[in-house]
Amino acid sequence: MNYRFSILVVLLLSIYFVQAQDYSVKANKDSLATYVGNKDIHPVKTFDHKFKATKPKNVILMIGDGMGATQIAAALTANKGQLNLFNCKFSGFCTTHSSEDYITDSAAGATAIACGIKTFNAAIGVDDNKVSVKTILEKAIDKNMGTGLVSTSAITHATPASFIAHQPHRNMYEEIAADFLKTDIDVFIGGGYDHFTKRKDGRNLAAELKQKGYTVLQDINQIKTVKSGKLAGLTAPEHNGRVAERKDMLQVATQTALNVLSTKKNGFFLMVEGSQIDWGGHANDITYIIEETLDFDKAIGIALEFAAKDKNTLVVITADHETGGLTLVKGDVEKGTLKAEFSTGKHTGVMVPIFAFGPGAEQFTGLLDNTDIPKKIEKLLNF
Ligand code: MG
Ligand code: ZN
Repeated sequence: MNYRFSILVVLLLSIYFVQAQDYSVKANKDSLATYVGNKDIHPVKTFDHKFKATKPKNVILMIGDGMGATQIAAALTANKGQLNLFNCKFSGFCTTHSSEDYITDSAAGATAIACGIKTFNAAIGVDDNKVSVKTILEKAIDKNMGTGLVSTSAITHATPASFIAHQPHRNMYEEIAADFLKTDIDVFIGGGYDHFTKRKDGRNLAAELKQKGYTVLQDINQIKTVKSGKLAGLTAPEHNGRVAERKDMLQVATQTALNVLSTKKNGFFLMVEGSQIDWGGHANDITYIIEETLDFDKAIGIALEFAAKDKNTLVVITADHETGGLTLVKGDVEKGTLKAEFSTGKHTGVMVPIFAFGPGAEQFTGLLDNTDIPKKIEKLLNF
C-alpha cells in the first residue's frame, strides 16, 4: 500500500466515523417498513368543552419529541382511526428552526418552548451568549404556582432539562441534575437516577432532595401512591425502557403529577414529554414510532380527562421537531396497517402540529413559531 493511498483510506475512515457518531441508524430508502397492526387498540374518550372562564388557572404542556404530522397519522391509522388527541378543536402549525440551524435539536427546540427564545443547538435554557433565560416553569414558581415535569427519558435529558436547568450543553447531565436543587419544583418523574447519585463531584442529590423535603422514590408503584407534598420519582438509572418494559409508566406518572399538583391553590404548570417517538424516528423504526405515539396519546387522554373535569385547565400538545422524514405510502385504517418510508435518520425542518383544549385553546391556531408558545401561555396566566 503506498503512502498516498493510506492517507486516503484514513481520511475516508475518519469521515465515516464522524458521520456514524452523528446518528446511529441511517435511513433505509430502498425498503419500506411495514406496520402489521396493533394488538392493543386503545379506546378513546370524548370530552365536554365546557369551561369555567376564558383564561386557565392550570396549564399542561405536552411535547411529543419528534412527533410530526405523519407520526400522528401513523398512530391514528394503527389505532384504527381514533386518538384522544382529536378531542382538541383548535390546532395549528409551528416552525421549529434554531438560532443557528434550519434543523433544530431537542435542546434548542425545548428551550424555545420553555423560554420563548431562539438559541443554538444543544443549549439548555440559555441564549446565544450562553446567558440563562428564565423558563416558563421558573416563572410559574415565582407566581407561587405548583410545577412539574414528567418524561419517559431521563428527567435530565434535553427536553425536560430545558424547562428547569441552564447549561451550555445538553450532555452536562450532572450539572443539569444539580440545577433541579436550585428550584422549588414540586414534582418530577422520569429516569436519570444515576445523574443524581453517581456523580464526579461526590454529591448525593437524592439525599439532598430528601433534606429539602422531597419524597424520593424509584418504583413507579410507590410513586403513584403519593398524593401531595414534594415528589422526585426517578424510575430508571438513565432512560426508561420502551413501552414493553416500562408499561404504563407515562400514564401513571402523568396522573400522579396531576394528583399532587391539583392540591395547589394558585394553579400549576406541568410539562409531560413522550420522549421516545424521536428515537423511533432516528432508528427509522415505524413500530417503535407508533408504540410511542400511542403511549403518548394515552397520557394525552389522562390530561384531557383532568382538564374536562376541572374546567380551569388548558392542555397544549405539540412537538419540538419531526424526526426521520417519515412518510406514509400505503395504509388501511380498518386493519390498522400501513407502509412507511423515511428520508433521513435525523431531524427534519418540517412544521409540527400544535393542538389545544380548554380555556384559551383558541390562541393556538394558524401558523406559530415555537417561541410563541410560552408567550401565549404566559399571557393567558397573567404573568
Ligand atoms: Mg426529548
Ligand atoms: Zn432526536
